[in-house]
Amino acid sequence: MTLLKVKPLGAIGEVGRSAVLLEAEGKRILLDYGIKLRPKQSPLYPPEVEDVDAVLLTHAHLDHSGALPLLFRGKNSPKVYGLDITRDFVELLLYDSIKVAKKRGYTIGYGPQEIKKLMKNYRPIEYGVPFKIGPVEVIPFDSGHIPGSTMFYVRTNGTSLLYTGDFKLRNTRLSRGAERDLPEVDLLITECTYSQREHPSRKGQEKLLREVVRDTINRGGLAIIAGFAIARLNEIAMILSSGGIKNLYLDGMARAGTEILLSYPHRLRDDKEFEFSLRNLRMVGNWKFRESIIRRPSIVLTTSGMLEGGPVYFYLEKRREDPVSSLTLTGYQIEGTEGRRLLQEGEIYIDGERRTIEMRVNQLDFSSHVGRSGLFEFIRAVEPKQVIPIHGEETEKFGEEVQELVGVDVISPSLEEEITVSG
Ligand SMILES: [Zn+2]
Ligand SMILES: [Zn+2]
Repeated sequence: MTLLKVKPLGAIGEVGRSAVLLEAEGKRILLDYGIKLRPKQSPLYPPEVEDVDAVLLTHAHLDHSGALPLLFRGKNSPKVYGLDITRDFVELLLYDSIKVAKKRGYTIGYGPQEIKKLMKNYRPIEYGVPFKIGPVEVIPFDSGHIPGSTMFYVRTNGTSLLYTGDFKLRNTRLSRGAERDLPEVDLLITECTYSQREHPSRKGQEKLLREVVRDTINRGGLAIIAGFAIARLNEIAMILSSGGIKNLYLDGMARAGTEILLSYPHRLRDDKEFEFSLRNLRMVGNWKFRESIIRRPSIVLTTSGMLEGGPVYFYLEKRREDPVSSLTLTGYQIEGTEGRRLLQEGEIYIDGERRTIEMRVNQLDFSSHVGRSGLFEFIRAVEPKQVIPIHGEETEKFGEEVQELVGVDVISPSLEEEITVSG
């Protein structure tokens, strides 16, 4: 009896374009529908899908949500299920994508109209509260990646699957680690971004961050901290605030991200600690303010995380030749980004102009993904009958390792290959 069909539309051997099509009992359900962002080029899209009934959205990052508006062209209007806070983050990021596309001169196939229609069809769900799409039962669980991020448990006719989206097992300052108390799973579709790497200890990274910032200020420099707009820079603000480091400035899209976090205190691991960090944080919204900040030793938290644009360029231009100032990158720098170029070559291109950077440059790891040993730990705890690894550059290699070390059956499908799952 054919119960459940699964077809990956992206994220095979790559980080990006997370999109899986499920077919069960005549329902067509998408697990995420994301794009692959490419430095200096238009994004890569997953294949078009017709007659989608519903989308289960794990979180707002564009590699999971960026293609959603395409589902709302013409008369189509599938329901999109996700957490309340995810809705606000998605809206922010999708409108920003239109701006970015215009600025860089490529088309993205949708406009504000499609985003509005998507928002109208968004259905907020709650962790641990089951809901149904026709006869298909769905239970959302916290995935611990960013506030609101979700893993989806899907069950139909006695066959079940768990789609992790992006997840993290350990607590961060903003989020609790992923839910461990899960029902029995036949098929586990798991991310494996860091399947070949462990993260350094969080405590150690926090200590290093505070040291770099204190040292920069003591020497009279500007401490620039670059990070993603959604959650990451707030995590950094909490680390610095809890270490007694005061007077932080927040610039770029992270300001809007902060407003959203503030509207959903119940989505945060510790809303008091978050609010404490806000008391220490001033929002930077205009050029006059920016000019005044760089006149004295200051700490600026700003976008973009991989130096692909945003107000970080302003601060870099002003202080790049100043050896007592510092730039701290707080996450992984993808191949082809200016952040990666800086780490490898010591220079970057700002608006086409080559710029050498003489300030101190540090890279720290505040990843919100599970590391290698955590992936194995999770798979062992879930005890699925089968595993499909996605969302990693080494999906196939990791699959072989899981098969060998955990002894579970692994399927490594190629792109758009349909897999039939039975209970
Ligand atoms: Zn993510
Ligand atoms: Zn992702």
